[in-house]
Amino acid sequence: MSLPSVRLSIDLDALASNYGVLREAADGAEVAPVVKADGYGLGAGPVARRLWREGARSFFVARLGEGEALRAALGPERPAAIHVLDGLTSGAWPRLQAAALTPVLMSLEQAQAALTLGKNASIDIGLHVDTGMNRQGLSHEDAAALTHRPGLRVGLIMSHLGSAADPDDPRNRAQLDRFTAVRRLFPQARASLAASAGAFLGPDYRFEMVRPGVSLYGGGPQERPDARLRAVARLEAPVLDIRQVRAGELIGYGSGVLAAQDMRLAIVAAGYADGIIRAARGKGYAWAAGARRRLVIVTMNMLAIDVADAAVGPGEMVEFLGPNALLDDQAHAAGSVAHECLTRLQAVAERRYLGAD
Ligand SMILES: *Cc1c(COP(=O)(O)O)cnc(C)c1O
Repeated sequence: MSLPSVRLSIDLDALASNYGVLREAADGAEVAPVVKADGYGLGAGPVARRLWREGARSFFVARLGEGEALRAALGPERPAAIHVLDGLTSGAWPRLQAAALTPVLMSLEQAQAALTLGKNASIDIGLHVDTGMNRQGLSHEDAAALTHRPGLRVGLIMSHLGSAADPDDPRNRAQLDRFTAVRRLFPQARASLAASAGAFLGPDYRFEMVRPGVSLYGGGPQERPDARLRAVARLEAPVLDIRQVRAGELIGYGSGVLAAQDMRLAIVAAGYADGIIRAARGKGYAWAAGARRRLVIVTMNMLAIDVADAAVGPGEMVEFLGPNALLDDQAHAAGSVAHECLTRLQAVAERRYLGAD
């Protein structure tokens, strides 16, 4: 009999359902899934294969190595377009070509490297333009200098919104206006501005393609739970022990957690080495015996939840993420975002897929 341990279940039917929600929001624009960081911790291969079955034909990754792994995972029978957001990093061109990956140029230096390569034979690229996030992309002026260069075939012009989770933030409109101006320089290219949050900002933001990541995996576009989206990741771990703690006793390391009254704790076999963010202690929760139970401490491989007089005993599985322990709530409790909670799940080795292709 295998002893229970930390377990991640990935519900690909829920992923497919979320893809349908994004398709509806995109209203005809292509929905190109972002599967960087190994599919936000859930496995880029199984995620992308299922999304291909749902109709996805273009994907985005961050790193060159992620693109190569995704190409292998999709195989020759799924010839998707794969865009690499790190772009044309030094020495990457032969590998990009070998795996049929499209670099999205993200700096002036990369654009110059592309122009040099394009002297021999014209090359296919995407172009990231900075419209106000100040993280990646060429300026409007530097992008303008790349028009009418026969060596470069710009198939995609894109930018990224910095404040789309707040629909009322004026930065959205300012970025949209800048993007609209720069895309006019590349009329032959397809245009993409919106990620998950932007896809819900309305028709002006959709262009020809939207690039959702987090909402495919169940994260709300406004960083709070969204009833239209289903939980894809379910993280569970077993109770190891039940302990009584007297009022006035300290719990765990240091002097931070003092039992204000007598407490009954469930000690669970999961910790920050298993993707539970330590900063969630005191605010996050686990779902056990049909209710939310407050996280008291989080250590490397163990944590404690306050189960009061609930019927919880050793061996029982409790949920830290899933349909009852909501991703956006847990992220908020940890002072973080759903994206980080998900990518932490790369630490969990035991996983099973529901609805795999
Ligand atoms: C990560 C990323 C996305 C996806 O963002 P989500 O908020 O997860 O939807 C889209 N575009 C770019 C450029 C990104 O870096």
